[in-house]
Amino acid sequence: MREVELVIIGGGPAGVCAAIEAAKCGVQILLLDENPKLGGQIYRRLPDSLSITDQRQLGKDYSQGTQLLAELEQYSDKFELLRDVLVWGIFPDKELALLHDGKTEVLKAQRLILAEGAYDRPVPFSGWTLPGVLTAGAALRMVKAEKVLPGERILLAGTGPLQLALGAHLVEAGAKVVAILEASSLSDFWKQLPHFWGQWGVLKDGMDYLLKLCKARVPLLRGYAIVEAKGEEQVEQATYAKVDRNWQAIPSTEKRAEVDTIITGYGLVPSTRLSRLCGCRQKWNPYLGGWVPCHDEYMETTLPGIFAAGDCSGVEGAVVAQEEGRLAALKVCQQFGLITPEEASRRYSAIFKKLRGLKKFEAALNNIFAIRRGLLGQIIDDVIICRCEEVTAGEIRKVINEGFTSLREIKVLTGAGMGPCQGRMCEPIIADIISIETKQSIEEVGFYSPRPPIKPVSFGCAAEGDSG
Ligand SMILES: Cc1cc2nc3c(=O)[nH]c(=O)nc-3n(C[C@H](O)[C@H](O)[C@H](O)COP(=O)(O)OP(=O)(O)OC[C@H]3O[C@@H](n4cnc5c(N)ncnc54)[C@H](O)[C@@H]3O)c2cc1C
Repeated sequence: MREVELVIIGGGPAGVCAAIEAAKCGVQILLLDENPKLGGQIYRRLPDSLSITDQRQLGKDYSQGTQLLAELEQYSDKFELLRDVLVWGIFPDKELALLHDGKTEVLKAQRLILAEGAYDRPVPFSGWTLPGVLTAGAALRMVKAEKVLPGERILLAGTGPLQLALGAHLVEAGAKVVAILEASSLSDFWKQLPHFWGQWGVLKDGMDYLLKLCKARVPLLRGYAIVEAKGEEQVEQATYAKVDRNWQAIPSTEKRAEVDTIITGYGLVPSTRLSRLCGCRQKWNPYLGGWVPCHDEYMETTLPGIFAAGDCSGVEGAVVAQEEGRLAALKVCQQFGLITPEEASRRYSAIFKKLRGLKKFEAALNNIFAIRRGLLGQIIDDVIICRCEEVTAGEIRKVINEGFTSLREIKVLTGAGMGPCQGRMCEPIIADIISIETKQSIEEVGFYSPRPPIKPVSFGCAAEGDSG
């Protein structure tokens, strides 16, 4: 079995910056990503089938991604890159199972940096499984990287600054954005305003998005949330309502809009499948998006030699992800004795200084936009929660009322979480339902323990590993 000094899983901002720092010090690196191109979510590249004559059309994120990937390219002789590779299993002693070109390779890492990112938080409501309902991340990918409009008359519902970015991109691309519903209130925003001091770049981006939306006369409705989607074959109508401080819909405040697309953006959930597979201890942090691996200030998890950086260690945006990737890589270099403790501490200090300001700002954003319970408490029994196995909220509540209150029992008795996504989408919602019904905290409810393979792979592929 081949052995590599450092394996970095994920080629987004965190993984790419980790690779740059480690390459500078001469560590032997294998950088892996499931996508055909590096860049992760925010810096996602255009597919080969698309070309563009005016690069400015691709926007600021794209050009920042181009710069970062060009920096990585300078060290291309110092690392091995595998794209289109799924890491489907991690076993004791940092043994990894990779699926590449339809074949499994098993290899051993001396050090591991997990930079697997995050994914859209699903928030179910009546009609959310109708064609025409999609999440903000998916819509951003369509409009930014694939230049495809998800629909013509669009309602955005959710919370957080990504909604403004998405709204502006959609308007620019020619869609009619009927309204943006923001669940948080203006007073939540004013309370955190002092923490925005100094973050001029991000504030300017926000103002630019707002200006584009104002010009296109898109109403931004604060304190509103989506409650229902209706339609025969696909979405035709959306019902939304005013929400209270806990984001529970206030009766008799409903309004309706004729739309063909509803995009929900209730923030991101850190991807912790790989860190859970490794057995890294996890902690619950509602402000960082949910369960995150515990780590020290250098991003090393509770398992020595395994690091978690970027959104998978808590959702705090691309710049924080980059700095965390650098920190983890520097610590690896120090552990291999490739930089002196003095040099390491000089470089850590510069990163810590940068992270302090950024983290304050991200904490303020998370305080405003962290999801509130009222939104989930109102899910009616008919609503499907596990889309893979089509299990409804009613079926889950019935089992809970019969006394089966753990995630595992509900999985076994209803099948929820047993489909192709392995609970990635429904776990946070089922945990919330259990917590609401049984008055346990989310920490008490816990999380699923993933088993390899984390995504479907064929028996043939799984059996082909060269370690027996
Ligand atoms: C769908 C989506 C769209 C977003 N769009 C924007 C945006 O337009 N603007 C913005 O400011 N922020 C956006 N964000 C947030 C932003 O992406 C993040 O803050 C930032 O990209 C985090 O960087 P990261 O390196 O931690 O993770 P990511 O950029 O998410 O990169 C993680 C990488 O890990 C790879 N990976 C994960 N698991 C495996 C595995 N098992 N095997 C192999 N590879 C794996 C993924 O393919 C991915 O490329 C988006 C987030 C999501 C989820």
